Amino acid sequence: MPFRNVNDLNVKGHRVLLRADLNVPIKEGVIKDATRIRATMATLKHLLDNGASVVLCSHMGRPEGAGFEPAYSMAPIAAWLEDKEGLDCRLASAVTGEEVEREAAALEPGQVLLLENLRFDKGETKNKPEFCAALSRLADTYVNDAFGSAHRAHASVAGVVPSFQKDRIAAGFLMEKELKALGKVTHNPEKPLVAVMGGAKVSDKIDLIRNFLGKADVILIGGAMSYTLLKAQGASIGKSLCEEDKLELAKEILAEAKKKGTKLLLPLDHIVAPEFKDSAPATITDGQDIPDDQMGMDIGPETVAAYLVEIRNAKTLIWNGPMGVFEMEAFAVGTLTIAEEMAKAADAGAFVLVGGGDSVAAVNKAKVADRITHISTGGGASLEFLSGIELPGVKALEL
Ligand code: AMP
Repeated sequence: MPFRNVNDLNVKGHRVLLRADLNVPIKEGVIKDATRIRATMATLKHLLDNGASVVLCSHMGRPEGAGFEPAYSMAPIAAWLEDKEGLDCRLASAVTGEEVEREAAALEPGQVLLLENLRFDKGETKNKPEFCAALSRLADTYVNDAFGSAHRAHASVAGVVPSFQKDRIAAGFLMEKELKALGKVTHNPEKPLVAVMGGAKVSDKIDLIRNFLGKADVILIGGAMSYTLLKAQGASIGKSLCEEDKLELAKEILAEAKKKGTKLLLPLDHIVAPEFKDSAPATITDGQDIPDDQMGMDIGPETVAAYLVEIRNAKTLIWNGPMGVFEMEAFAVGTLTIAEEMAKAADAGAFVLVGGGDSVAAVNKAKVADRITHISTGGGASLEFLSGIELPGVKALEL
């Protein structure tokens, strides 16, 4: 998928509308985690250092969309950019409007105007043409670095883009890095390609599984979603989570895997407990069936061993979703062992991509995050990309 990056743009003397993901957690005006701000600094500084002025914009939280709300103001972020990053940054008086247009026009090269929270205006989430037009009047160049918002057809990532000249549109460094990493897995990945999928519901991951049938050599399934698939195959699953209304779909997926030549592995044994509690007595099942009074909480040791063999054999790996209730110590072993093996595979030269909030939490918990080839920052966006769904924010950047 061809797109321009900021290196391909001459930005000297231009005013750039930079859509970033500055959706950081803020409590009583204090930024609790600035990771997302830091992640977009390379793009922002590149633009400023090369003689551009920047109209920076992002959403933050979920305000009503009916105007200014102090709790969701971007003021703490403007202060952070000045105090911690040493930028010449001022906060705009609003999101858009004539006053904001004057503030933008007054910018000198090297200066930043941070717009107020895009979601103060309903036009952002509703992708309203008037709001897109108002945003487009603030700059002559558009750069999108907000991969985590690319799956939403909102004004600042989708609707506004065609208002700019084709050659004045580019992806920021963060966006580019995500797209390259995700593209490496979906387009001509080095084989064998092994996909590890887990999490709570089959229904959330249907498109993801389907997109990798025929593409992946092996799909390893864990987490609660494996019980729906196991039940569809005729196994007893006791009190485990199951989506009864997805049993037919589960059968279709199993049949499709066979037809398309993808080896789809389900757990061979389980760690089970009578209750959904960390302190509940955990036992290992003898085989795939789960007794009536027990529920599946994690993959068992035989499963772990079988999955490790496949992971060790892979040249490309993707992982989305935990293998069990890893938030509880007693049921975290399967997920943490897989995380450790993913890191070992990356150490040995495999391309390992981890995406989705819970798998990212798992690699952090296993303390292996720095060894993983690429950890995707956008949970929803990376899941949709890997599911083969076209992202409006990415489509808009295409040449
Ligand atoms: P997801 O957001 O779909 O990736 O699902 C992640 C959630 O699935 C985590 O909070 C896990 O605790 C949960 N989960 C994984 N395995 C199980 C299981 N065997 N029973 C219940 N919940 C599970």
